[in-house]
Amino acid sequence: MSKTRALFCCGCQGDVSARLTDGKEIYPRRPDLWDLPFWKCDACGNFVGCHHKTNNRTRPLGCIPTPEIKEARRHIHRILDPIWKSGRRARSELYSMIAHVMDLPEYHTADIRSVEQANEILRVVRELEVAI
Ligand SMILES: [Zn+2]
Repeated sequence: MSKTRALFCCGCQGDVSARLTDGKEIYPRRPDLWDLPFWKCDACGNFVGCHHKTNNRTRPLGCIPTPEIKEARRHIHRILDPIWKSGRRARSELYSMIAHVMDLPEYHTADIRSVEQANEILRVVRELEVAI
């Protein structure tokens, strides 16, 4: 009997019963990742990693992304990370600014649920990049 939990799946655009698995299933050619936990949606095959370095090592990083959303998130990080790494703004302050502009209680890149939403965040991040 495998462990499952309800998670939002971007591929299915709804809550699904995600199954806990490991890197051996997700990345068969990456033995270095075999011991890591992942939550997989068996309906569409997409998956999400976990906060595996914490005490709660099977806590998902966010919702289950599609490959397109994953790529869009990487794009956001490529613009966002240098801003706080440069020290122009603290990371937490930057994330609060995005949440404020997006009218969200909190902002986490791992919570982005659609390519449309990712593009909207990207626009906001680009504006911040030149404004601060
Ligand atoms: Zn799915």
